[in-house]
Amino acid sequence: MDVTFGPYETYNDEIFGYKAAFEAYINVRDDKETARLAFLGNHLQDIESNLPEDPQVRNSKLGALAPIRVVNEVFAAGDGAHAVQTAAYNLPNDDKVVQQKGSKRVMLKNVQEAKFKATLVPISKIVLTASAQKDLSFDLFFTHIVAHELCHGLGPHQIKINGRDTNPRMELKEQYSALEEAKADVTGLFALQFLMTQADNGRLDAPIAHGPEAERQLYTTYLASSFRTMRFGLQDAHARGQAMQFNYFLDKGAFTSNSDGTFSVEVAKMKDAVRELDHELLTLEATGDYAGAKKWMDQLGSVRPEVQHALARLKSVPTDIAPVYAILNVPR
Ligand SMILES: [Zn+2]
Repeated sequence: MDVTFGPYETYNDEIFGYKAAFEAYINVRDDKETARLAFLGNHLQDIESNLPEDPQVRNSKLGALAPIRVVNEVFAAGDGAHAVQTAAYNLPNDDKVVQQKGSKRVMLKNVQEAKFKATLVPISKIVLTASAQKDLSFDLFFTHIVAHELCHGLGPHQIKINGRDTNPRMELKEQYSALEEAKADVTGLFALQFLMTQADNGRLDAPIAHGPEAERQLYTTYLASSFRTMRFGLQDAHARGQAMQFNYFLDKGAFTSNSDGTFSVEVAKMKDAVRELDHELLTLEATGDYAGAKKWMDQLGSVRPEVQHALARLKSVPTDIAPVYAILNVPR
């Protein structure tokens, strides 16, 4: 079992955001999937050392990361059963407790899968061509989410500007959240492609899918998933960061918009575009370039007509799931 119980999140305190609400999650550990994804965590240094950024800013020794555990949720209560269903968490939040005891990242696999089936599958039927729908993959959707979480820990964190020690969050101000979310997405794609290519070349015995079919599935699933995120509207940092990525890939010809309102991926162009965009985002963070980040987001962080048109056709697709927990009568 994996149990989380306590007052953690402060989202419901709309006055100061200080008071935490109690929540509980009762989960069953998925040791097999946890071991498979530990593989990603074990290769982070290798990925960091190959990121498309100035070698000067690469971190040659990554610090210890919070462990990741994959579980299946059987029950959630309190704040955990309130509003948008939690699909992953990294707790506790309290810095004092984290320093003394550490924290843990928990990925709720069955919740992710239910969201995938209820929202991403119907979205894909509207935004993908009929022939591309077979490339929608829960496995690569889930692996990319885990890669996204891990990639928040890669790239520039401590930077120096004119001899002053600072960090990207301080320097990029209100632009930071959307940019950092986009960085985690794009670095996640870069990281998975990096591992897939190594596995293809026989340099890595990877427990992840690889080869041309897996690559097509990764990028096609990511394309469909972009619409899931953009539906939340541009006031949301994830959605703004996603719109920026989408427009960049359209401009590079890696995504194409078809006359019937669907979208397609060009895998070869996508690989180059991911590397180039990751370089742009990592460089904006490494240099703490506020003016550059603002200009970048002003130019690309919008919803274009063809995307708006597709979003309008998604109105009937649910935005989230509402679990019903069955109480089983177990004979004594
Ligand atoms: Zn994130």
